[in-house]
Amino acid sequence: MKRAIYPGSFDPVTVGHLDIISRSAQIFDEVIVGVLNNNQKAPLFCAKERVALIEEVTKELKNVRAEAFSGLLVDFARKEKATTIIRGLRAVTDFEYELQMSQTNRQICPEVDTLFLTASVEYSYVSSSTVKEIAYYGGDISAFVPDFVAKEVKKRFSS
Ligand code: ADP
Repeated sequence: MKRAIYPGSFDPVTVGHLDIISRSAQIFDEVIVGVLNNNQKAPLFCAKERVALIEEVTKELKNVRAEAFSGLLVDFARKEKATTIIRGLRAVTDFEYELQMSQTNRQICPEVDTLFLTASVEYSYVSSSTVKEIAYYGGDISAFVPDFVAKEVKKRFSS
């Protein structure tokens, strides 16, 4: 059983994330989307809500599940018996940080490796932070997130 973890904030999950999730699900027997519960950031959705959004938009993908985690990513990977961390690369600007993270993780946990998938061209500019900024000003985010997520984001900003 080849199990991978795709970690991130996913605040909220975008079509770019979904593309990486579905491509990973074709490579691995099981993909766990790891939702980072980061106390230092003030997210739009709490970790439990972000997990629920991911579960809703990945419900057709039977070998994908979402879990919240806090602490070290490699500890979460060990706990879930995953041997691969998946990260998406959008642009060169992602690369330096990702390289450092993957090498650090490999140093502290040699049994877990990192696999990079390059963003699909049509989604490479999509990010959760721009989605939130557009939604904050009442703009249309339907091209950037699944419909269900767009509705939940709109609700959050109108409340
Ligand atoms: P973080 O909060 O850890 O910076 P995100 O939650 O935004 O990251 O994203 C999680 C992972 O998904 C990261 O590896 C990031 O590079 C990748 N990612 C984000 N947006 C896209 C996209 N549009 N296409 C491909 N990968 C993406």
